Amino acid sequence: RPGGGEAAVAQERLVPGLTRTFRANNARICGEGLRRAVFVQIRDNSWTSWPGGVYLSFGSNLGDREGLLRRAIGRCAAHPRIGVLRVSGLYETAPRELVGQPDFLNCVAEIATDLSPRNLLRACAGIEAELGRRRGRRFGPRTIDLDILLYREEIIDGGELKVPHPRLAERRFVLEPLCELVPRLRIPGAGFTVEELLRRLEEDQPVARIAGPAWLMESR
Ligand code: ADP
Ligand code: MG
Repeated sequence: RPGGGEAAVAQERLVPGLTRTFRANNARICGEGLRRAVFVQIRDNSWTSWPGGVYLSFGSNLGDREGLLRRAIGRCAAHPRIGVLRVSGLYETAPRELVGQPDFLNCVAEIATDLSPRNLLRACAGIEAELGRRRGRRFGPRTIDLDILLYREEIIDGGELKVPHPRLAERRFVLEPLCELVPRLRIPGAGFTVEELLRRLEEDQPVARIAGPAWLMESR
């Protein structure tokens, strides 16, 4: 399994590609904060920083799946209060909860944001809507799905938002890409690291890594 090293290398390629977006929003990734924070220039020309440590998962199984993941990540990066720090490789996954639908493409990204968890969920729903998602059957086919996996150390158990994502620990298609980025991160409330959760999974979930993290920068 690829470790954090490969993701870190790809990030150096990723950052220049995203600089335009960040500049447009008066924000940039810099210095020590390369992996952990986005620095943003605010109205009076002073700088503030948003912490990273927020992880989103992206999934698509309808239409131009890779293009939709790309556009969803692009929309996140273009959001005035979200910076994209790192993106995992691309995974192809057989549907799990509801079988008999097309295979999914999945990936995970680390973002930096000063949005509250609820406002981040709203931003994600907005991006899903912009990319043409229609709410259908639960677990059914979707053009694009954005889920909040982790919001730093926070544990949230609300009606509309649960963090860490309640099904994270049982989904290989989430744990594999997350493990590329943060293998040793301990999931709040679970007591296990991402790597440990992955080792505990049953072997019955076929998930194929079809591209490294540079997929975002390549037009394939
Ligand atoms: P799923 O992602 O589970 O396949 P949906 O995308 O249709 O299903 O999401 C259903 C609802 O799950 C959303 O309307 C949202 O309010 C809720 N939800 C709870 N926790 C989260 C989370 N961590 N990330 C995204 N949605 C969440
Ligand atoms: Mg969802």
